[in-house]
Amino acid sequence: MSRFDAITFDFWDTLVRADVAATRVQRRLAIAEVLVSHGLPAEHDDIDAAFNEAWKRFDASWGQGEQFTGYHAAETVLDVLGHTDDEQVRFRVIDAYLSAPRAMQLDLTDNLVPTLHRLKDAGLRVGIVCDVGLTPSTVLREYLEGHGVLALFDHWSFSDDVGVYKPDAAIFEHALEGLGGVDPSRAAHIGDLRRTDIAGAKGMGMLALRYRGVTDDDPEHGPEGDVVIDNHAEVPAVLGL
Ligand SMILES: [Mg+2]
Repeated sequence: MSRFDAITFDFWDTLVRADVAATRVQRRLAIAEVLVSHGLPAEHDDIDAAFNEAWKRFDASWGQGEQFTGYHAAETVLDVLGHTDDEQVRFRVIDAYLSAPRAMQLDLTDNLVPTLHRLKDAGLRVGIVCDVGLTPSTVLREYLEGHGVLALFDHWSFSDDVGVYKPDAAIFEHALEGLGGVDPSRAAHIGDLRRTDIAGAKGMGMLALRYRGVTDDDPEHGPEGDVVIDNHAEVPAVLGL
């Protein structure tokens, strides 16, 4: 019998491997197509510079715990490119920016699927606690659906729905409540980032697992996990299964 009733998973580089470079290319092509169709210049370097500015603003806001969504990023891109006046262009660029990642095929992390089945079979409730970056959570859920794993989650808490980022306790509370009112001491959270995943879970009194299967976050970014794992196959034993 595990002393745990529930576990929550971070999304990027915990459930799904991020491919930032490929997503960026996909977005750049989609936006260039819109601009060209309106007879506007669509220089590679200009669009790239606009993306850099959008990321910079996201990163600063995320660090401050202030919401900055893909919509805000698309507005930034329009602003930097100087196309804020034409409503048609605005609408189409925002749509292209938000939906371009839909065309991406992203990989699940190693041994995730058998581990999720093992946890479910043991009676644990399984959730997601995710800081949404520039790709909306509707698209993130489509990735999971496309891999046939969305149904393995009992509940999810995405920052663009909940309105706060990790490490804010509110997003973890949303998750534990949604998983059936689980006591934090009987719950674990797994994620790759120290500042958000590890600090957030520890602040809640949840067991914090740092997942090092994709990235190895720098110690200067925040506290160490209660447990560090390199492969999801290690999770059941950590939870006493
Ligand atoms: Mg992550």
